[in-house]
Amino acid sequence: MDKISIIIPCFNEEEALPIYYAEMKKVMDSMKKQTSFELLFVDDGSSDRTYEIMKDLHRKDGRCQYLSFSRNFGKEAAIYAGLQNASGDYAAIMDVDLQDPPSLLPDMYRILKEEAYDSVATRRSTRMGEPKIRSFLSKEFYNVINKISKTEIVSGARDYRLMNRKMIDAVLEMSEYNRFSKGIFGWVGFRTKWLEYENIERSAGETKWNVKKLFIYSLEGITGFSVVPLSIAAYMGVLFCGLSFLMIVAIVVRTLIWGDPVAGWPSMVCILFGVGGVQLLCTGILGQYLAKTYLEVKNRPVYLLKDSSKEEQRIMMMPLSQNLRRKSYGQG
Ligand code: UDP
Ligand code: MG
Repeated sequence: MDKISIIIPCFNEEEALPIYYAEMKKVMDSMKKQTSFELLFVDDGSSDRTYEIMKDLHRKDGRCQYLSFSRNFGKEAAIYAGLQNASGDYAAIMDVDLQDPPSLLPDMYRILKEEAYDSVATRRSTRMGEPKIRSFLSKEFYNVINKISKTEIVSGARDYRLMNRKMIDAVLEMSEYNRFSKGIFGWVGFRTKWLEYENIERSAGETKWNVKKLFIYSLEGITGFSVVPLSIAAYMGVLFCGLSFLMIVAIVVRTLIWGDPVAGWPSMVCILFGVGGVQLLCTGILGQYLAKTYLEVKNRPVYLLKDSSKEEQRIMMMPLSQNLRRKSYGQG
């Protein structure tokens, strides 16, 4: 019988967790003839009762496992940790707030079993219930990133997807520190079927994303999957050289014809500011990539565990070399 691991990143989700489990239980029961399940809750350094609730669920239902981070490492780290620890033949990533409907799971599984796909992913067909400014910024982000990146990043794509072992292992091969899943899933390739559904409001609790966090996340995506911004400096350099050459010619000609009355101080200041601004912008872009490289080179772990219901299994399953580099400080 196949086993599906469901990876559920949770950050301060004490209200949503019980609702999620109740809903998921119905789906697991409806599919229990075909598959077994593992619910892998990842506590991303929550400060509320999320961790206690997870432990409780683990005690009551053996299918529930948990990983708990030593602090908040972000959803991307939680997804990575979940995939690393998933023991299923298939793995799905799902938000705990029921914005990723568990009821789609039987269909997703059927598609992977019957059709020649490696993964079934989901996207929102509408952005109902979302602030207008957020929708606008998201749309622009996808426009920009798809223009400058070779990896296709699907607009409105959610992280909710079911994939087979081949694809899980491919995603795990990408052990980079700066993680942007939407890009990683596109980058590894494989055949993906897209399902669409309308935006669903959160079951309980509040969204953990604000415009600032989303902005940083989008920069992560752009710098992670495109180096086009780095060429901006070069293009601008050529453009400015051309402009200055034209200006020199114009000034020489003007001086020869009309003499040289001293004027143009204000325009000079404008040009200085303009050129200075462009230089700073280019240095800034360079800095972004350098910072990412710096973090990658340091080779810090993507996450640290403070506790896990899977600890023993994980140590046994890992090859020795990885065991030595273990990203965990044990229990407690
Ligand atoms: N999440 C997380 N770590 C974070 C932020 C969010 O694990 O630092 C989880 C969160 O608990 C939820 C999922 O990621 O299960 C999606 O978060 P949220 O619903 O706040 O985002 P939105 O749906 O509003 O984009
Ligand atoms: Mg949500």
